Amino acid sequence: MTTALVLGDQLTRQAGPLAAEHDVDPDRVLMVESRAFATRRRYHSQKLTLLFAAMRNFRDALRDDGWTVRYERADTFRQGFERFFADHPDETLVAMEPASHGAGRGLRDAVSTAGGDLELVANETFLCSPEAFDEWHAGAYDDADTYRQEEFYRWMRRRTGFLLTDDGEPEGGSWNYDEQNRETPPADYESPPLPTFDYGEHVGEVREWVEEAVETWGSDEEFGWPVRRGQALDALADFCANRLADFGPYQDAMVGGEWALDHSLLSAAINLGLLHPREVVEAAVETYREREDVPLNSVEGFVRQLLGWREFVRHVYRREMPDLADANQLDHERDLPPLYRDAGATDAACLSEAVGHVEERGYAHHIERLMLLSNFALTYGTDPRELTEWFHRSFVDGFHWVTVPNVVGMGVYASDAFATKPYASSAAYVDRMSDYCDDCPYDPDATTGDDACPFNSLYWDFLDHHEERFRHNHRMAAVYHHWDERDEDERDAVRERAAEVRRAARDGSL
Ligand code: FAD
Repeated sequence: MTTALVLGDQLTRQAGPLAAEHDVDPDRVLMVESRAFATRRRYHSQKLTLLFAAMRNFRDALRDDGWTVRYERADTFRQGFERFFADHPDETLVAMEPASHGAGRGLRDAVSTAGGDLELVANETFLCSPEAFDEWHAGAYDDADTYRQEEFYRWMRRRTGFLLTDDGEPEGGSWNYDEQNRETPPADYESPPLPTFDYGEHVGEVREWVEEAVETWGSDEEFGWPVRRGQALDALADFCANRLADFGPYQDAMVGGEWALDHSLLSAAINLGLLHPREVVEAAVETYREREDVPLNSVEGFVRQLLGWREFVRHVYRREMPDLADANQLDHERDLPPLYRDAGATDAACLSEAVGHVEERGYAHHIERLMLLSNFALTYGTDPRELTEWFHRSFVDGFHWVTVPNVVGMGVYASDAFATKPYASSAAYVDRMSDYCDDCPYDPDATTGDDACPFNSLYWDFLDHHEERFRHNHRMAAVYHHWDERDEDERDAVRERAAEVRRAARDGSL
């Protein structure tokens, strides 16, 4: 007899052993809620509430549809398996291969220690299988560890047919409309209201348990994430109806008081299995076909995030682990400064706002993650492992397979697998793409002096420190030209200001 083991990030009947058309036909379902998982890290409270409430709702939905579900609330996965095999000694468990490195082996060990067998089948919650990616990669590069997202994305567009003309050309004539996606909204812009959900019993009950039994961080007051498939589908429909049209132009913008802007807020639902990435892409493309007010640059920008980036990071991670998680090519060793735990620990408006979003919701949008939270950590010199751990604990959509490549590869350039140069920038970027600098005590145009924006001196000091590595990178030649134009006294003043900024950040007085 076969029992489907449904893991917390495989809450799906669209793929895997529970899918109607799958060749595995399980007799029952086992789900294990492990307390050890909840206490292993100091997670954001909303992350735990979301995960366990989604699991309990998935269980209820299966039962409503006639499945026999054994739901174990256990101290550890192993204890859950022991209890199950005590009652069902001849069962074989079947689950999809987890996306996070080593998780499959860990599960197999826990099941076999509990006296049972586990069969792992292909993980169908992605759009590109490992075999397909590896075959594409072998044909595209001579080098085993060269990866370029844009090339992979074009191949995925051709392979899936999304946004292609009948002749197999990209719709509109270009593969990528990023140059149209760098606008900031007008001063009176208000992003559309977000959908709200009727949670029933599980969110409240898990919240209570988390509050009593687990040490967490962050607030749970603003919890607003979909915890059931129906809610996730509603969230997707709401995004397509109300925010997709402006998603493109304002994708990189940051606006005070607007934590969501026109982002989809679907990453957690997709990563948990509540939505399949294929149906999300299909819904966006269908909306574009039906509505004249949804521009191509918006839908293409959105499709690229899922078809390109999400699949790309998953496979590069798969191939580059275990080394990727420990990569530290810039030899950065500093501890993460206290402002990442307390938005009040800095006067810098942009950092305070972004960390505030994480505290309040376990979420910050992509540009805040990349150009504020990572950029500061990078130029400050934070140990990439510490930053990864912070992201993993703090974000509702954080799972090892997706957090590690994004932080290590994209965020702080600890590995060169994802990018040819670091995403480091001075205050000029934040000033251009946000309104944060308007009310900030720091001056975005100053590099030295007490009120100079911390991003400026850190940026130049970072380039100075890593000159040997970056000076001959042709994409960075122009910035070194600006550095060369300063005289030695000016450069010393920048270095000194950077040291002051680091001291203040470390002491919680930035
Ligand atoms: P939208 O802006 O609406 O984008 C649509 C979807 O595209 C997202 O829901 C997501 O599924 C997908 N997507 C876009 N970019 C990426 C990417 N680089 N990697 C994977 N999926 C992507 N994403 C996570 O899901 N979990 C993480 O732990 C995570 N950590 C990140 C850490 C850093 C330093 C950076 C720079 C990015 C990280 N991302 C992570 C990627 C991205 O920022 C989030 O997926 C996105 O902000 C989620 O918000 P959204 O659903 O509103 O996305």
